[in-house]
Amino acid sequence: MQAFEATKMYFSRAADQLQLPEEIRTLLLTSRREVRVQVSIETDQGDLATYIGYRVQHDNARGPMKGGLRFHPDVDLDEVRSLAALMTWKTAVVNIPYGGAKGGINIDPHQLSTKELERITRKFVDQIHDVFGPRTDIPAPDMGTNAEVMAWIRNQWEKYHGFNPACVTGKPVEHYGAKGREEATGRGVGILACKLLSRLGRRPGETTVAIQGFGNVGSHAAKFLAEADFTIVAISDVSGAYYDPAGLDVARCLHYIIDHNGALDGFADADHISNEELLELDVDVLIPAAIGGVISSENVDRIQASIILEAANGPIHPTADRSLEGRGVAVLPDILANAGGVTVSYFEWVQNLQHYEWSLDRVRQELDRVLSNAFEQVWRMSQDQGISLRTAAYMLAIERVHRANLLAGLAG
Ligand code: NAD
Repeated sequence: MQAFEATKMYFSRAADQLQLPEEIRTLLLTSRREVRVQVSIETDQGDLATYIGYRVQHDNARGPMKGGLRFHPDVDLDEVRSLAALMTWKTAVVNIPYGGAKGGINIDPHQLSTKELERITRKFVDQIHDVFGPRTDIPAPDMGTNAEVMAWIRNQWEKYHGFNPACVTGKPVEHYGAKGREEATGRGVGILACKLLSRLGRRPGETTVAIQGFGNVGSHAAKFLAEADFTIVAISDVSGAYYDPAGLDVARCLHYIIDHNGALDGFADADHISNEELLELDVDVLIPAAIGGVISSENVDRIQASIILEAANGPIHPTADRSLEGRGVAVLPDILANAGGVTVSYFEWVQNLQHYEWSLDRVRQELDRVLSNAFEQVWRMSQDQGISLRTAAYMLAIERVHRANLLAGLAG
């Protein structure tokens, strides 16, 4: 299933519940603008290389559009379109004043030199600088891009438009980036896990957790949850999963990846199992924090966790989602579970616009406030209407975007 179809399916379930007319659904699903540009550079060897860059701006009724820029060989218009729409629902569900966008270039960053990546990034900005900026559409890092790429984007954009670091977020801290941005998504997953657990009347000290993916999101979620007294029994990365039923020493795992170039490969203080086995462990909480589509109709019957937080984008296939819902598994959907990152990106933008820097404590407090409010609203709607947390989150988001469009004058 294409990513766009999955997003559309979740959208349709919520739109049915809201009894949205067909013409409103079409309006809400149609991107405002889809840009496709040629990105040609001279390689380090002096050859000519041509790539395709995309920026899809999905909806701006609630504010400037916001979304990451992805460097990956599989990037195509369908994927970027789907992720742009997902950003609209994500910013709406946490109620920050943004719409949604996404971009990408079909390159493999691991096959290119830093100089080539810089040339590609700058050429892409040359092509699209007039359609993004602090008041229209603000890019951020995504798969294959990082703070350094964001610094190039800012520098290139400012050549056309003058000083304005709010044109992009996820910048290095010394380049007007926000403190706490790096930890934000994982920390958000942790904050929301605590909220959900408390609503379900359970205690962290009696709760076991398995986390798939120990990169930026998975490792920060593990750190937060271990400090909150959860027992992390399994973690994983591309090298496989590491399991200790008595609980892993998360601080030790974090030190291990610092000493081993970000990888868990060779970690010997736990049993080595597969990533598939990790998903099927008898744990209370499962956190897929690596890639999409890992829970499907093929393995859903073997998933034993009663709580799942979608830290990755789209880790559960819609048919598996139905089955989990039928079994009463509490699934916190990606549009809320991993919204900590875009929330702190929003704080970065606010600081840039005000030329005033927040402390890390303030960033953390505000993140807690925004995510807690969103969680309570989604939880209440789900309880009041007897619907899943996913459908409630989508309904809340769609209602906000729909209302903003109505107030702006739909056909204006
Ligand atoms: P990352 O690259 O830092 O880490 C990814 C982790 O997943 C690594 O440990 C990697 O080894 C592991 N992994 C990769 N392929 C795997 C596989 N096939 N099986 C098991 N593990 C695998 O990425 P990240 O920033 O932590 O992002 C993780 C997920 O969260 C992605 O789906 C991303 O789209 C989503 N997300 C990230 C952010 C953010 O702020 N970083 C925000 C929202 C959503």
